[in-house]
Amino acid sequence: MKTFKNNMIMIKYVAKFCPLYIISSFFAIIASSVSSLIEVMIVEKVINLVLEEKADFNIIVKELILFFGILILSLIVKRIHYGYLVARNRHLWVKKIQRVMFEKAAKLDIASFDNPKEYDLFHRALTQGDLKGINTFDAFVHFLINVAKFFTIGIYIVIKDPLLLIAVVVQSTVAYIIQYKNNKMWYKTSKEMETNQRRYGYIKRVFYLEKYTCDIKTTNLPNLLIEKEEEVRVNLDKGYRDTENKGFLYNILEDITSQIVRNFAVYVYLMWKVYKNIINIASFAASVNAILRVTNYIYGVVWSMGRLRDNALYIDDFLWLMNYQPKVEDSGGKKLESTHPVIEIEHVGFKYPDQEEYVLQDINLKIEPREKIAIIGYNGAGKTTLIKLLLKFYHVSEGDLKIDGNSFLDVDEKEIRKMYVSLFQNFQIYSVSVLENVLLRSRKYETDDEVVWEALKKAGLYDKIMATEKKLDTIMTKEFDDKGLVLSGGEQQKLAIARVFAADTPIIILDEPTSSLDPISEYEINKKILKLYAEKTVILISHRLSTVVDANKIYMMEKGRIIEQGNHIQLMKKKGKYYEMFETQAHFYQESQ
Ligand code: ADP
Repeated sequence: MKTFKNNMIMIKYVAKFCPLYIISSFFAIIASSVSSLIEVMIVEKVINLVLEEKADFNIIVKELILFFGILILSLIVKRIHYGYLVARNRHLWVKKIQRVMFEKAAKLDIASFDNPKEYDLFHRALTQGDLKGINTFDAFVHFLINVAKFFTIGIYIVIKDPLLLIAVVVQSTVAYIIQYKNNKMWYKTSKEMETNQRRYGYIKRVFYLEKYTCDIKTTNLPNLLIEKEEEVRVNLDKGYRDTENKGFLYNILEDITSQIVRNFAVYVYLMWKVYKNIINIASFAASVNAILRVTNYIYGVVWSMGRLRDNALYIDDFLWLMNYQPKVEDSGGKKLESTHPVIEIEHVGFKYPDQEEYVLQDINLKIEPREKIAIIGYNGAGKTTLIKLLLKFYHVSEGDLKIDGNSFLDVDEKEIRKMYVSLFQNFQIYSVSVLENVLLRSRKYETDDEVVWEALKKAGLYDKIMATEKKLDTIMTKEFDDKGLVLSGGEQQKLAIARVFAADTPIIILDEPTSSLDPISEYEINKKILKLYAEKTVILISHRLSTVVDANKIYMMEKGRIIEQGNHIQLMKKKGKYYEMFETQAHFYQESQ
């Protein structure tokens, strides 16, 4: 039922995106049935004309022209479908579905990325989504073609001799049972092997993704992974071997029955009828041909049923993505009026979805327009989590977050996010032009180039880009351009920081994007941002205290709570945790100098 339901839903999608494909598939099904019927009938007709009726050669040719005329017509219909429309509609499908899936993917809640089960579904739907959808439809068409041929030739057989139906029924039952068992067994095995396949995929990724190359080259990681792969492989081999062995036995059983039922029994029965003059040799030949064909169609039907079942599984993933209802994305609809919003965090508590522990507890702070605030604390204190809440990546678990007095729950997340330019530790450089990397959109306004050059100047990357041949149009990395520009880690950071300088938003969030710069460059960049943007609100996150001394207000976090707050002088006077941390770091820098 589920297989049927899912495949029907998929057909609806195909009908929506490629309606012509449904129509041409329908004609292909009719043409396939007609051509197989004609092929069977020709044999009988020709033998009868030649041997029984001793017909004139011209008459035979005339009959043949009629048969072959119909055959050619149906072959042309099939050829137009398979040779022309299939490819075109597949491209059309990929183009349309991929766009829909990208849009869906962009709307996925961050929480779904944290949830391994949902992430798996999403990953499968998106990575297989392009062709798999149309493949499921093709398997359905294949199924219908075989069903149609089966009935067409089946009826022909019944008209010839209903007893022959016994062979057909026995053969179909055996084939169905065996294939059903086979499919079920393989389905179970592939479900059981999913975890091992995922692990295997991970190991492969580590070997081919660039970010792992350095460790692969310089450490024993390859051996470690190969050992892990062996473990995974042992499980996979064991899991698949049992299934393969059983499948092998099933197939032998099927071969034997088909030889006994389809060939031996049918031949004996039909020969007996010829000897008894019940049928002539023409009828014999046509019947043998029809039985052979009909059993092939049975295999076609059974095989496509297996495919339909497999596809139903994929369709589950596909439908999960298509029916996905984000909880955070697209929530709240209010627009914001002000251009310099006030943000209030009131008694906010937060735990990640499906987690027991609160990672933020009773957070209270108010961010006034144009304020420069710093959030500091050791790793794991909850600083980034707080920023994720400010970006409305998650709903709070307790308390409330407000922007200009409106609860985040009521405000459109796009309105909130457009207030910020944010830069994280794990910023990315994309294989697009320098200008596009900085603006994160394509060139739109006349002033774009000027803005980007200015931003590059402030970030300290002006000379480097100026020296390139295509300047702002230089493509970064090599995915889109063999001669793409590859920057060092520090330079990449500067390029990312240029995004902040180029942005026209009232609030800047920097979540340690400068951490891999040396402390002096980091200090200078932060100082520049604090100084240059008197008009903007700046939220700085850091665990290097030297970089935040100029902030108006510093919030020190520990274990999800704000434990101290004030400016640098106030906090130093307090001689609490901030003081301790500052002294330790100052000491360390002095020593290393
Ligand atoms: P910080 O930025 O101060 O280093 P984070 O806010 O990144 O700290 O993390 C705070 C705590 O939340 C950590 O204990 C971390 O393990 C946990 N955490 C972070 N991200 C997730 C997540 N996606 N799912 C579950 N726990 C998380």
